[in-house]
Amino acid sequence: MVRKMGVYAVLAFCLYGLFFYWYLFYFADAKLPFEYEGSKADPATFLNGRELMLSEEYSKIRNLLFFLSTPFEWLFYFLLLLFGFSKAFKQWAESSSKYKFLQTAIYLIWLSFFAFLATFPLNYISYTLSKTYHISTQSFPSWMKDELIDFWLNYGTWLIIVPVLYWLMKKSNKRWWLYGWLLSIPFTLFMMFLQPVVIDPLYNDFYPLKNKELETKILALAEKADIPAQHVFEVNMADKTNSLNAYVSGIGSNARIVLWDTTLNRLNDNQILFIMAHEICHYVEKHIYFGIGGYLLLSLLGLYLTYRLMNWATRRWGKELKITDVADIRSLPLFFMILSILMFAASPFTNFASRYEETRADKYAIEMTKNPEAAITSFQELSRSGLSQVNPPFLVKIFRYTHPSMLDRISKLEEYEIKLKNK
Ligand SMILES: [Zn+2]
Repeated sequence: MVRKMGVYAVLAFCLYGLFFYWYLFYFADAKLPFEYEGSKADPATFLNGRELMLSEEYSKIRNLLFFLSTPFEWLFYFLLLLFGFSKAFKQWAESSSKYKFLQTAIYLIWLSFFAFLATFPLNYISYTLSKTYHISTQSFPSWMKDELIDFWLNYGTWLIIVPVLYWLMKKSNKRWWLYGWLLSIPFTLFMMFLQPVVIDPLYNDFYPLKNKELETKILALAEKADIPAQHVFEVNMADKTNSLNAYVSGIGSNARIVLWDTTLNRLNDNQILFIMAHEICHYVEKHIYFGIGGYLLLSLLGLYLTYRLMNWATRRWGKELKITDVADIRSLPLFFMILSILMFAASPFTNFASRYEETRADKYAIEMTKNPEAAITSFQELSRSGLSQVNPPFLVKIFRYTHPSMLDRISKLEEYEIKLKNK
């Protein structure tokens, strides 16, 4: 039975992968609807032939990797349970120490290490791909360093969460999901508070804007929206990537707007001010807080469903998955697998909410700067630098796009431009 289940799971994954290969490479049509042809959103008007070809090619492979990597994780956790690895990790942990906490720490290190090994090939392919297409400029040692920071950061986080989680499961096998959720609220807020000052600096350097002339203009814009000057940062990204970006992070006194140096180096002042105005909207409309609120609500539902599904799977497949009791740490891969499936299932909704905020931010930015030419060309440059698809296939948009497609964003700006001219 166990072997059969393993074969079925691998087969299902292969079929799923083939489906997405067919969907992305043969079925999906990235061609623009004809009414947009020749408009400023038409990539043929701002990319050269080579860039057009590369962006199509690159996006297809990237999208395929995206759709493969999450279900690959599920497969990994499933096989880990099925073939008794989780049980073995626990035995190794118990034979190395008699202290409960150390046992959990050892179990987790084995699980994390195997997960790292299993996901490494896809991560590495993704890195070399982006290097081949000249998006990433990161050296291998620097990339590997980031991977290792990821590893230890995840390990540290789970080492805090897992012992509490399994202690709650033992204490209350019917309500652990609720107590766990209540504890996750202060924890999430604390992590969000620390993110920009403790976690992000592990990866990159943050500093006040370097170009002082530009800084004056940017801070003047920030002041208009009552954002203190010390909340605007530049981050050193040029030795990692060619793509452009800016974002808002942190909560409370740590809330900040961060501009990638690549954005500052490659766009002209008016284009940068448009991007800045977009981020200002996220900041003043407190999109981060809505994000946290939405995330907490979803995680309440998610934890409840995880509780139900874990009980069901243990009752139905406990023997095959080698889980006798949900509250036994051996069930951790099942917990991770269910959580990941639920997050993937929820992503169309969270992406939808995010696209709504992004649309608001674009509108706010163009009304603040009133320079559609600069706005449109900045988006064109964003597409070029990241070789991103202007009009992604439906499933890609639904599952991957936290921002509206460039087709939507640029054509909205074009409408605004026409309105402005007719005034
Ligand atoms: Zn945004």
